[in-house]
Amino acid sequence: MILKKIPLKTEFLTAPIILSIAFGILFYFFIENSNKNIEELEKSVDSNMHISEEINNLHKRISVNHNNLFRIIADKKSDYEKSKTEIVKILENMERLSQDFSDKNYFKSLKISKEEYKNIKYYFTLYSDALKESIIANETKNFFDTFDSIYNLNRKYNKLNIEFFKLYKHIRVNIRENFLAKKRELERKNDRYKLYLLSIIILATILSFYLATIFSKNITSMISYMQNITDGVGNREPIPNIDRDDELGKMAKAITNFEKVFENLQKEILKREKVEKDLKLTSAIFENSNEGFIITDVDLKILKVNRAFEEISGYKSEYILGKTPSILKSNLYDKKFYYKMWHNLLNKNIGYWMGEVYNKKPDGSLYPVLLKIYAIKNHNNRILNYIGIFTDLSKLKKSQENINYLANYDFLTALPNRNYFKKEISDKILTRKKFALVFIGLDRFKYINNSLGYSIGDSVLKEVAKRIRSKINNSIFLARIRGDEFALLFDCSKTKENCRKYISYLIDDILKELIEPMKIGNYELIINASAGMSIFPIDAQNEEDILKATNTALEKAKEKNKGSLTIFTKEMAKDTKRKYLIDKSLQENIELSNIECHYQPIVDAKTREIRGFEALARWNHKELGYISPELFIPIAEENGVIIQLTRKILFTACKRVNYWNRTLNRSYFISVNFSPANLLQNDIVDMIEEILYLTKLPANLLKIEITENLFLEHNEELLNKFKQLKKMKVNLSIDDFGTGYSSMQYLKAYPINNLKIDRSFIVNIPTDKYNSGICSAILNLAKGINIDVIAEGVEDEESAKFLQENGCTYLQGFYFSKALDYKRCEELLQLEKL
Ligand code: C2E
Ligand code: CA
Ligand code: CA
Repeated sequence: MILKKIPLKTEFLTAPIILSIAFGILFYFFIENSNKNIEELEKSVDSNMHISEEINNLHKRISVNHNNLFRIIADKKSDYEKSKTEIVKILENMERLSQDFSDKNYFKSLKISKEEYKNIKYYFTLYSDALKESIIANETKNFFDTFDSIYNLNRKYNKLNIEFFKLYKHIRVNIRENFLAKKRELERKNDRYKLYLLSIIILATILSFYLATIFSKNITSMISYMQNITDGVGNREPIPNIDRDDELGKMAKAITNFEKVFENLQKEILKREKVEKDLKLTSAIFENSNEGFIITDVDLKILKVNRAFEEISGYKSEYILGKTPSILKSNLYDKKFYYKMWHNLLNKNIGYWMGEVYNKKPDGSLYPVLLKIYAIKNHNNRILNYIGIFTDLSKLKKSQENINYLANYDFLTALPNRNYFKKEISDKILTRKKFALVFIGLDRFKYINNSLGYSIGDSVLKEVAKRIRSKINNSIFLARIRGDEFALLFDCSKTKENCRKYISYLIDDILKELIEPMKIGNYELIINASAGMSIFPIDAQNEEDILKATNTALEKAKEKNKGSLTIFTKEMAKDTKRKYLIDKSLQENIELSNIECHYQPIVDAKTREIRGFEALARWNHKELGYISPELFIPIAEENGVIIQLTRKILFTACKRVNYWNRTLNRSYFISVNFSPANLLQNDIVDMIEEILYLTKLPANLLKIEITENLFLEHNEELLNKFKQLKKMKVNLSIDDFGTGYSSMQYLKAYPINNLKIDRSFIVNIPTDKYNSGICSAILNLAKGINIDVIAEGVEDEESAKFLQENGCTYLQGFYFSKALDYKRCEELLQLEKL
């Protein structure tokens, strides 16, 4: 455990440590052993000491014996008998001693050398013999006789004594020396052991350290080499130790092998990552594609489908997997169809098929798809799979149908539109068969639209379409061709009876149906409609002309025959031509055309004095003769010439009236008609200002006549223009008041100075209760809001009187004067002046 944590170098030191411990233990035993030896030595010294004591004892005993003997000998004289027993005892002792000496084992146990033993035994035998001699002598002879033997004994004793001392000394010296020598030797041995131990430890440590360093250096370099491999360091030094044959060399070789494997592995990983990425991408495309995918094996068993396929086909993948695509078959196609498909798929050079097919959903409904089938082959050209790609065409078809519908049908009424109608007309013309074309136009539809709102207008149109539809059968083509215009196409080729008669009858019926009150929202509306008709190929021979002819008939109906059908006549065509020429002439050059300004006087209702004039355009055309403003003004409005025309009339009138005022010392006002187009002009205020400046007419003498239809929509810019005009003191008159969009709202919002009661309301007053009522109502209203009223179209005194009595300020009409050219007007003024 710990070893795993410590570095290798340190780990290597464990070897010498373990070795040292082992040697240490070994040497400890050695040393312990020699110490024991020393102890034993000491013990043997002790035992040798004991021997020396033994010898000492022996020596002592001999000495005691000897001394006792001498004492006995010395005391012999006194008591011999007594001493004799003593001597016997001594002899017995000696006897025992000699026995001891004769016992070799005893001396052996004393560890005495042979020589020493021989010596001591010899001297002891000498002494004991001498002793025996002296005792014998002592018994047998007298004391003096024995003297010699005693002396001899004594001498022998001395000799023995010396020998004993020698031995004693020898033993002691011998033992000591021996012991010390042995001890020294043992100690030296111990020291040597210690030295060995130390040097072994040092050597082993150095060696292990050295080996560890070399080994760890090699290993470290290999580790860093491997580190470089795994870190992906590009330029690597060659691997160390590769040329060695030992384990390190093998290891280096193993690492280079590993390196190769590793690099291959890395390449493989990169390759696989790329493949994986590609696969992910492919599968994302597969899953998220809007096209349905179906993959089958070669036996057409469905292996995989994507989400789009599930959506398009209505089959869930759990259900369809394992089945064959024939489940999708609509059974609309014959064998030939499938033969061709398989022929293409299996053909080596083609390998795919594409076509629009109808498939069947689980509920049996059919849906169109663009189907592409590919045969997927391996390198041996063997088909492995088929892939079917489905593009849902139902939406496309639907949107195509939608586009088609939008292009050909009117969204609001669901009737064919102008586009469809035109196609129908040209188709009809191509057949050269007789047909009748009728236009039905709603009167004043714009006002409904503008005053009640577009949603009411839309509902009116729907209702109108419904009512017309209810009156005709399916063979009659009905279309809505303009905002408030419907077209009907009648095939006259099959009708045996008079086509015109039949259609007139039918259209009258339709128009009657249309005029019935309509309940729309909270309103009950009465819609008046007019109709025009022409017949192909009688009235026109081509598309353009038949449209024109019908249009002319409708216009005529609106003009003169409101609420009924007008049938086209050749005369109407002339009118159309005239209109065309007028249009052309107006556009050629407005300045050159001889349109003049005439002046119709406007008088004070009470005094009947002229107070001003209305400027009215008059055109005596060189070729076309007199053209009524009611004819050319709408054309000028349509082609835009009205802008220049108004300017011309305004300039002429202002200049003329100012001239009269100056010369006659009056302050007549001049009332000039402005078309809606004029007031929608951006620079209209500047234009008026400029003309007033040029003609020097005071602004308060100019009245601008506009029709109330201008106020259909609230227009902030228009209001601004009027405010500016008011600032300039220019007056504002509402022309034809009561015929259009008479709303109190605009009367309040705009700075209006005069109302002009339309001449249609003046007719037959006061007899006509209706008109009289309207006139007095308008006059009351004007009084209430404190503005002046001009009544136009006054043709007799009764009317003038009625109007005057009802508070009308000004009167205008043939009763006073027609519009006159300036010369005749001047004559009139001269007269009046007079
Ligand atoms: P309006 O503005 O209503 O002009 C009055 C029309 O009533 C004039 O017809 C005038 O001649 C006619 N009139 C006047 N008193 C009587 C009368 O007692 N009995 C009858 N039956 N008619 C009378 P006119 O001149 O034919 O003009 C027709 C319309 O043409 C004008 O109707 C006006 O809307 C337009 N118009 C004429 N001149 C101009 C013009 O210079 N500019 C513009 N923008 N429109 C003009
Ligand atoms: Ca007018
Ligand atoms: Ca009028």
